[in-house]
Amino acid sequence: MTSGFPGPSNPSARIDTSVAHPARRYNYWLGGKDNFQADRDSGDAWAAQFPTIRVSARENRRFLRRAVTHLARDAGIRQFLDIGTGIPTADNTHQVAQSIAPEARVVYVDNDPIVLAHARALLTSSPEGATAYLDADLRDPQRILDHPDLRRTLDLTRPVGLMLVAILHFVPDDDDPYGVVARLLDALPAGSHLVVSHATGDHLPVPLPPRPAGKSHDGDPNGLVVLRSRDEFTRFFTGLELVAPGVRSVAQWRAEQEPQPRPTAAEVSMYAAVGRKV
Ligand code: SAH
Repeated sequence: MTSGFPGPSNPSARIDTSVAHPARRYNYWLGGKDNFQADRDSGDAWAAQFPTIRVSARENRRFLRRAVTHLARDAGIRQFLDIGTGIPTADNTHQVAQSIAPEARVVYVDNDPIVLAHARALLTSSPEGATAYLDADLRDPQRILDHPDLRRTLDLTRPVGLMLVAILHFVPDDDDPYGVVARLLDALPAGSHLVVSHATGDHLPVPLPPRPAGKSHDGDPNGLVVLRSRDEFTRFFTGLELVAPGVRSVAQWRAEQEPQPRPTAAEVSMYAAVGRKV
């Protein structure tokens, strides 16, 4: 089953290629083709400040693949809610999960019309499983949880893998990211897992200046990215049991099979962890 393509909204009418968008900028850093000059200029401005940004983006994507593999293969998770999907690339969540368990069901959520325009590529489920795409905002978790396409696709009485990979750093404290995560987890049963990766300034030799609050799509090359400390990151897992090895650099979390040597914590400057609801 595939479902969840919003009917009347025309994504191309909402797309502005003259300002940088996080999803397209990330696609640029990953070496993708789905980006425009504004995204590349913004991506280059970031790289001037943080030269290993491409390493960080690639390592984040590798972490996503390892985390989904762990959930599907070792934890028996068969349903995924992936919020902050990004532009489809290699190893999207449903492809990784369904390569292990073809019956896996995945709901993707993103608020960027760019991602919506690519959503068909996310709806290529195995015949045994299902995928859906919701055009919705993380900051409105109730709308996501109540959405008929989510309810059609996921059974919320059974464990879900909640993926918040490289998205929470776009949510400032004023938008209550901890409350949002808690509300999503409240709706999921014991045995569900939370997967988070998040930008941090903990390993930077010189702290970056504080980011002004503002819109994330405003074209500012710094954009709105909230760097969170290890303690602030770990707070997202309040009430959960951290899966071994706990909080690590995205480059280090269960990365024994990855090419060695691994990039340093400073080169990637992102934390990663997986927690289990008990
Ligand atoms: N999770 C993917 C993509 C990360 S890029 C990965 O790790 O590879 C971050 C994505 O989050 C972008 O696609 C961006 O559009 C989306 N995003 C940012 N803020 C959001 C919000 N408030 N609601 C929904 N999606 C959001």
